[in-house]
Amino acid sequence: MDDLKKYNNQEIVELIKKGKVGLADLVDSGICPTCFDKMNNHILYGDNKDKIIYEDELFECFLVGNPRAEGHTAISTKKHYKDMMEIDDETCEKIFLIAKKLMQIIKEVYEAESVYLCTMCDGPMNHFHIQLIPRYSCEKRGSKNFVKPRFEYVENKEKLIKLREYMK
Ligand SMILES: [Zn+2]
Repeated sequence: MDDLKKYNNQEIVELIKKGKVGLADLVDSGICPTCFDKMNNHILYGDNKDKIIYEDELFECFLVGNPRAEGHTAISTKKHYKDMMEIDDETCEKIFLIAKKLMQIIKEVYEAESVYLCTMCDGPMNHFHIQLIPRYSCEKRGSKNFVKPRFEYVENKEKLIKLREYMK
């Protein structure tokens, strides 16, 4: 794919619809897929409203569509930052306070033994986010929990309601 920067937004949308452009092409052209998705009616990732746990003017917390564990959650900034090194101190403080609260809630709601936290934005284009990955008592401790195999998200309405309630 040529550099997508020569196309306008609508032209790129059409190319995606035709299956001629994918996520990697956007990234390679320096276009943030997360921001592009938001501006274009969730054309890349689909609407995630059913997975949102909490949002305010700065952040969005949602269950991951291809989780590594039940309760695998992402916290993302609404504004575009490439990685954690780009965010201002105030935003950094706030996002970690949200992460702390959400970790405790995930631990309780999913009866996890622990919740791991990581952020690893890398490559030519990224949208800063933090991942929270539960570890269950049947699982061994350690960094392998960061790379547990992904599976398809299945909604658990009862747990989702609790998560939303506790995050209010
Ligand atoms: Zn972005």
